[in-house]
Amino acid sequence: EATLDDAFQTLLSWADDERDIGIRANADTPADAQTAKMFLAQGIGLCRTEHMFFEDDRLTVMREMIFAESSEDRSAALKRLLPVQRADFTELFRTMAGLPVCLRLLDPPLHEFLPSDHAGHRALAEALDIPLSDVTRRVEALSEYNPMLGMRGVRLGIKVPEIYDMQVRAIFEAAISVTTPEMPIVPEIMIPLVSAKREVELVKMRVDIVAAAVRAETGVDFDYKLGVMVETPRAALRAEDIAESTSFLSFGTNDLTQMTYGLSRDDAGRFMSEYVAQGVFAEDPFHTLDVDGVGELLILGAKRGRMARPGLTLSMCGEHGGNPESIAFCRAAGFDYVSCSPFRVPVARLAAAQLAILDKLG
Ligand code: PEP
Ligand code: MG
Repeated sequence: EATLDDAFQTLLSWADDERDIGIRANADTPADAQTAKMFLAQGIGLCRTEHMFFEDDRLTVMREMIFAESSEDRSAALKRLLPVQRADFTELFRTMAGLPVCLRLLDPPLHEFLPSDHAGHRALAEALDIPLSDVTRRVEALSEYNPMLGMRGVRLGIKVPEIYDMQVRAIFEAAISVTTPEMPIVPEIMIPLVSAKREVELVKMRVDIVAAAVRAETGVDFDYKLGVMVETPRAALRAEDIAESTSFLSFGTNDLTQMTYGLSRDDAGRFMSEYVAQGVFAEDPFHTLDVDGVGELLILGAKRGRMARPGLTLSMCGEHGGNPESIAFCRAAGFDYVSCSPFRVPVARLAAAQLAILDKLG
């Protein structure tokens, strides 16, 4: 006897036969990946690796690494993080069973990793076995006025390159361990918060060195893709030279909206309803893609990127990725896929099919 669930699955499979834009899911944990798989996402479009460090024990090791004042201390912390990350990535690759997995290198706004109150300082002093005054001093040294515009993303990756080295090694080792002749794993590595081509070159140089080292140590050859998250207006404007050394660009509309408006994504809620009520904004640009402003940067970035590389893979992975209107926008701009939260995947699949069918009907 057919169930409602069967009928829903049939409807979705019809949708998949029609649609011509890919749908992936944003997933940080194996549980997210399971959900993504269940809803037949075509891969992971964004794994925010910093979210893997919110649990207490891992957070402590991450803090050890961030607070390290000597390269020995930092290396020791990174050595402890390597097997943890290798296991994380192995599980994601296993769960996705050969579907593409795009792993974004660490992008921690530092304030999210610093203890914010006295109790937090004390706990950290205990965990690191250093005096409380030392913790306070180190936290002060790392505090920023605007952490969301500070030592985030690739900037941290360039200042402390050993962090990305560790993650990239973990990704390659995990990919090798899951790869079989029938199911080769080709990891996609994404660099966050880029604003200049040179940032990409510096990271790429080290990624290539780590790849060569892992190949030499294991005797296994493997492939990988390196791409850039376009989430600063400058990255969209300079997409042509940024695309030269990358195989994909993924537009992060959360930060891109924040930076295009110069409006904090974490504080905008305080006056958004007033702004919308007074007609300043037609809609909240963090919920509905601002096609006139942010959208123009997407089109411009896509066009410039493909000028350098006609086959460049393009996608959107910000929160807008699951909205039917944004999917229409991305499809019209020639994007290959959108990536959204796992639970939005079914609606995204239906919305994408509707667009293709409407097109066919003229
Ligand atoms: C973005 O900025 O759009 C994005 C997807 O990354 P995050 O939300 O993690 O900053
Ligand atoms: Mg971002």
